[in-house]
Amino acid sequence: MSTSILACCKPKSTDDRVSKLKKEIEQIESKCPKKDNHKSVHRILLLHFNGYVKDNFVIDERIVTCIKTIGKLTGMITVNSRPGTCFLQKIRRLKNEAGESTGRAVFTFTTVYHVFGVEDDEVYKLVSEWEELDVKVILFYENMKDFYNGKRCPRLKDFRLLDTDKEEEIKNDWCAIECEVDCRQVCKIDGKIKNMVDTLESYLEDYKTKQKEIYDLIQNKTISTDNLVVIVGHPHGRPKHVSVGQHYPSLKDEPKKVRSSQLWCRYYYDAPTCRGNSGSPVFIPGQPIAGFGFWFGHQHNHKRNVPSDTSDVQDAAKYEIARTVNHDIKYLGMSSIGVEQC
Ligand SMILES: [Zn+2]
Repeated sequence: MSTSILACCKPKSTDDRVSKLKKEIEQIESKCPKKDNHKSVHRILLLHFNGYVKDNFVIDERIVTCIKTIGKLTGMITVNSRPGTCFLQKIRRLKNEAGESTGRAVFTFTTVYHVFGVEDDEVYKLVSEWEELDVKVILFYENMKDFYNGKRCPRLKDFRLLDTDKEEEIKNDWCAIECEVDCRQVCKIDGKIKNMVDTLESYLEDYKTKQKEIYDLIQNKTISTDNLVVIVGHPHGRPKHVSVGQHYPSLKDEPKKVRSSQLWCRYYYDAPTCRGNSGSPVFIPGQPIAGFGFWFGHQHNHKRNVPSDTSDVQDAAKYEIARTVNHDIKYLGMSSIGVEQC
């Protein structure tokens, strides 16, 4: 009798927990209306990503290196256990009044606010109900077997809402959240024990440098990208995937210009996305992100798909225009509003 009680109370092994997680994800995926996305060659596990998509679609190796860095800065966000994606945009080391280090740092992530279960016009709800949300971010989740390994996939919590970008007449859906971390925290990254804050800081610097290099290479026509768009995220809570496709410049929304130097805009693209991709960084090689290197820049995060079975005339028109470029387009994704230099 006591043996059976012990057996029932014995904590599950990590393997058991991982296979349970896998089954849960498969169950959710079986209900997804976009099942063809799951096997699409345009969606690749980050661990396997080398730039080859198919015979006539190979991504320049400099862009591939940059995407891998973006991957390191991409986290899975869970809100009351529902998965979404976020991007680490900034790290600030805290100092006391004497200017000495306090041993703490603040991480700022961007995402979209519908991952918190609120709609476009409900930002007030996000602000007023923030305390009730259980928000966590899991870093370096690239392999399902590592999901429950806190050394490989550290979990961050105690987030606060930093900023939303609500503006009259513009459907925005972008927000920034922050949490504090201990600067001494270590984790196992690429098989080596490393200091988490130092390592992420170096990835951020690397990302800024590469983003600029790619911008210059595209400006001087050394690289041509054919409107490439890359989205890194956690579809259905799976380990990090890279979704690639093209964006449609003729559909780009430009709702506002600020001081004739900043352009608020939104991109539309055909890279395959599912639930869980919301909030993913949307990387458009060569994009002049405003504020980059000064403040954290206001880049685009994946928002959602444009409904294809809609009576909305504007949405239907978007599909019509996209079909003139890609006859087989099934789903058209849209980003949150981001800010470009113009
Ligand atoms: Zn799906």
